[in-house]
Amino acid sequence: MKVLVPVKRVLDYNLKVRVKPDGSGVDLSNLKMSINPFCEIAVEEAVRMKEGGGGHTKDSATEIVAVSIGPDQSQETLRNALAIGADRGILVKADGEIEPLAVAKILKGVIDAEKPDLVILGKQAIDDDNNATAQMLAALLDWPQATFASKIVLAGSKATVTREVDGGLQTLDVDLPAIISTDLRLNEPRYASLPNIMKAKKKPIDVKAPADYGVDTAPRLKTIKTTEPGKRQAGIKVKTTAELVGKLKEAGVI
Ligand code: AMP
Repeated sequence: MKVLVPVKRVLDYNLKVRVKPDGSGVDLSNLKMSINPFCEIAVEEAVRMKEGGGGHTKDSATEIVAVSIGPDQSQETLRNALAIGADRGILVKADGEIEPLAVAKILKGVIDAEKPDLVILGKQAIDDDNNATAQMLAALLDWPQATFASKIVLAGSKATVTREVDGGLQTLDVDLPAIISTDLRLNEPRYASLPNIMKAKKKPIDVKAPADYGVDTAPRLKTIKTTEPGKRQAGIKVKTTAELVGKLKEAGVI
């Protein structure tokens, strides 16, 4: 089974986001960029399908292809996926902000060419928090989708996916080929070992352009303004429950 994993390069999750002084967006200059954490979970799950782990039978995935759409530096993101255990990469070179619909259209082009049995994406990219690409891709392909997966069980031409939904867990059976998006609790990605980082340098990366898939990446959305979240006010300590209730009433909470 061939598994395709789209991976996005984003600002490292440990860093504090700074808004540009003119409010036109987020300042990314000289900041560490990393693989989107949900994409890292997606790669880890595919590798477990290949190696046998996380409840998967060994060799249930036979080839893992990582795809990234972004600038030249997205090669580093692909190398990261290759160091975790993906077999090869595809970089679709595109500068600037690429909106989810354009990403989904490009991924559809890649999927038409690669014909994977399963596509595992992150549930969201932590930069724009769109949580849209997996769903758009499933619609464009007319494939079944199971989003926010916290467990995946493969059996023949089906996947049984446990989803984290409000108020509990939902279990879905989807026929393959299918689109799955990962939630945080699906697995804990490994640290890539040094030998695997070295091996990853030799794995092939194909370079493509959006035009190869007939996709126009011109933005359809316009950012009006970007602002920092409001500063949190200092808290107060209360001595009694009655005082607490009074303060909550004052604040209009109860
Ligand atoms: P989003 O819908 O933007 O929150 O992203 C959800 C998922 O779509 C990510 O976790 C990736 O798996 C995939 N994705 C989004 N943008 C890209 C990109 N530029 N390159 C590769 N994969 C992407």
